[in-house]
Amino acid sequence: MKLGTPLSPSAVRVMLLGSGELGKEVVIALQRLGVEVIAVDRYPNAPGHQVAHRAHVIPMTDGAALRALIEQERPHLVVPEIEAIATDTLLEIETEGLAEVIPTARAAKLTMNREGIRRLAAEELGLPTSPYKFADSLAELQAAIDGGIGYPCVVKPVMSSSGKGQSTVKGPEDVAKAWDYAAAGGRVNQGRVIVEGFVDFDYEITQLTVRACDASGSVQTYFCEPIGHVQVGGDYVESWQPQPMSPAALAKSREIAAAVTGNLGGRGIFGVELFIKGDQVWFSEVSPRPHDTGLVTLCSQRFSEFELHARAILGLPVDTALREPGASAVIYGGMEAAGVAFEGVAEALAVPRTDLRLFGKPEAFKKRRMGVAVSNGASVEEARELAKLAAGKVRVVAG
Ligand code: AMP
Repeated sequence: MKLGTPLSPSAVRVMLLGSGELGKEVVIALQRLGVEVIAVDRYPNAPGHQVAHRAHVIPMTDGAALRALIEQERPHLVVPEIEAIATDTLLEIETEGLAEVIPTARAAKLTMNREGIRRLAAEELGLPTSPYKFADSLAELQAAIDGGIGYPCVVKPVMSSSGKGQSTVKGPEDVAKAWDYAAAGGRVNQGRVIVEGFVDFDYEITQLTVRACDASGSVQTYFCEPIGHVQVGGDYVESWQPQPMSPAALAKSREIAAAVTGNLGGRGIFGVELFIKGDQVWFSEVSPRPHDTGLVTLCSQRFSEFELHARAILGLPVDTALREPGASAVIYGGMEAAGVAFEGVAEALAVPRTDLRLFGKPEAFKKRRMGVAVSNGASVEEARELAKLAAGKVRVVAG
């Protein structure tokens, strides 16, 4: 793919479907390479909208609206940044050769539904996962638990991410509550859940994996250093890189990551989520796009996961080297308000070896991620302390 001049006939045009904080960083990385970027989201003034050449607001789950926009903008690449997209339309677009879908339309379709990716990983590829069953009613959920999944277990809507509608069930008294919570928290197709046996892991990682072209133009698999993270209620609050691992666990993690990303194919970055106990590794999930825990790579790698994604999708070579240990800590909205302001930014940036991203989201919610602090340190422990200290200094206030 020959890079050209934006807003001219030689431009390489890339359309992002989803323009949140991760999309915004991808847009910035593409802009630096002179790519013409079209940012799409379902609400106006999304973070990525604010840094793109053009911004559009459509319901991305509406296939007709999505097709009409792609036909209007004629992007060379269509880059899903979220899961809730009309993926059948993406399959048609890819088949018709209208645009290339990153990494592949099949990857977008399989990963938008927990069932698709779990069945691929466990049943087709034979990768180790938690025990699991699917259920369409409270009675089926109870039967699945009684029939072998047991307690404790984790119930999640099949159409959900970031912990939405997810709960841990400790005993029979929690089952109905978990069912109701999942039905309320799912995206679409309400009322189908996955119930997973609880994995008593020592720690969990994101293995960022890049499928990118080498000098001869053939696609190779590259690995970043493992990212450790802490999740609260299924949402990430803190991440760091590198997560120390035994050589056996790291090798097994990369074997699993290579298997699943190799099957999904295409070019781009993937966030492979894994649970680790000793030398034992379980596959949990994969995002065929940058991962939120990978925000740490803004400071810890020579090239961030967003820059790696931009290079990979354009057919350019990548360098996944770690620069130095780093950590990220999330800044939440803490309140429900539009047009909020941030206090304590100067104090946060006075923390040594620290940087901030404020995402520019038009509206804050209590548990909405509004920004992140990223810090380097001589060790991961030091970096985590600095990132948490800096994030804690930023206060969201009414604008
Ligand atoms: P997910 O949305 O599937 O990535 O789940 C969010 C988080 O919940 C994970 O990162 C884990 O911390 C936790 N979790 C999910 N599934 C399980 C499981 N089967 N066993 C233990 N913890 C889990």
